[in-house]
Amino acid sequence: MENADLKKVVRQHTEMEDFFSGGLSIKSQKKQPAAETGRSADYVTTELEKIADEIRRCCKCGLGSSRTNAVPGEGNPNARIVFAGEGPGADEDAQGRPFVGRAGQLLDKIITAMGLNRSDVYICNVLKCRPPENRDPKPEEIISCLPYLQRQIELINPEIIVALGAHAARALLDNNKSIGQLRGIFHEYYPGLGKPAIKLMATYHPAYLLRNYSHENRQRVWEDMQKVLESLGLPVLKRGKK
Ligand code: URA
Repeated sequence: MENADLKKVVRQHTEMEDFFSGGLSIKSQKKQPAAETGRSADYVTTELEKIADEIRRCCKCGLGSSRTNAVPGEGNPNARIVFAGEGPGADEDAQGRPFVGRAGQLLDKIITAMGLNRSDVYICNVLKCRPPENRDPKPEEIISCLPYLQRQIELINPEIIVALGAHAARALLDNNKSIGQLRGIFHEYYPGLGKPAIKLMATYHPAYLLRNYSHENRQRVWEDMQKVLESLGLPVLKRGKK
């Protein structure tokens, strides 16, 4: 094995062990540039930036007046995986970037443990502005904001969407089930009439995981991510017995 490959495998193992031992870690190979849609990565990047500009000017709901920064989302325009959370928190509102606070650090570890980098995937939220005091999103806020996420998904055309937490999964699947019922199995997300369904895996939100940091919960998230990797044909690291 080449030295660089060895280093990568060691890092992946370290992150996985770190995840299970309390500290956490995932990687992806890119699909061919916008293969199925025939759109170039440059086109997708430009269109995503147009959506981001709209979001930054958006005042469709009350959150438009309480935000510091809108948080449109970021990452690879050609991502195979889109991670979708619920809505920005205080750190994200301050920086205008998704998942940069404590929950984001845990998400980064999950992504590294999958053998991926943050730059391989696309990371965004259902709500693009922070709900005050991190309260749950209101239905009318989701209704106003969801079309932005739907357009982002339609453009990126990922192979898998990972919905982080019940709010994201429910909004995308248009149901009211609990995260316990939703996680661990593939669902189908319909990006629009005549377009093929995209697989959706729901899992626990990293913020929930931080609050309930048990071995069982981390194991469940890791099992969900293993299913994502298997479905994409990416290597799945098994945990060595300790
Ligand atoms: N929680 C979310 O749902 N999204 C973020 O961007 C940060 C925390």
